[in-house]
Amino acid sequence: MPRTAIFPGSFDPVTNGHVDIVAQAARLAERLVLAIGTHPGKTPLFSADERLAMLNEICAPVARKAGCELRCITFADLIVTAARRESATILIRGLRSGTDFDYEMEMAGMNGAMAPDVQTVFLPASAAVRPITATLVRQIASMGGDVSPFVPPAIVARLKAKFAGKSG
Ligand code: ADP
Repeated sequence: MPRTAIFPGSFDPVTNGHVDIVAQAARLAERLVLAIGTHPGKTPLFSADERLAMLNEICAPVARKAGCELRCITFADLIVTAARRESATILIRGLRSGTDFDYEMEMAGMNGAMAPDVQTVFLPASAAVRPITATLVRQIASMGGDVSPFVPPAIVARLKAKFAGKSG
């Protein structure tokens, strides 16, 4: 059984921050599952299918470089349930700040109580990507700003296409 890690998020859209964590996780695991949360009540900019396609396109070469098998899925239930479904024993979360830390500690504690067989592992954001949030990327792009420092080039193009004709 390959050592499997699961990395959950909204990935709406995938940013350089996510890619940084994917690269780190791919060095730790033999198999990495990127899990897009599609819980009702959240209205994403990109559909689940669009996010799946973008994640695969951007992250497959990153995982391949580290010799790690990659799989992208969506989930609408608990992350620990999705982890067990995927036979993942490691739950990856990226840490950007003390605010992330406080929230993530609560989540890790409660996930650990529900699923002691799934180990949360925090990975530190590299300095260059620490300020990046998908929320700000969406806001900047929606107002015609340049998001090329924050997301891969293919995602810049997807954001431009998404907002084309919506401004002005
Ligand atoms: P965001 O918070 O940007 O909307 P997500 O909800 O998709 O992104 O977050 C999924 C995971 O990715 C979380 O563990 C989060 O800490 C991590 N993450 C998001 N942005 C970054 C970043 N810039 N650096 C490191 N980790 C990040």
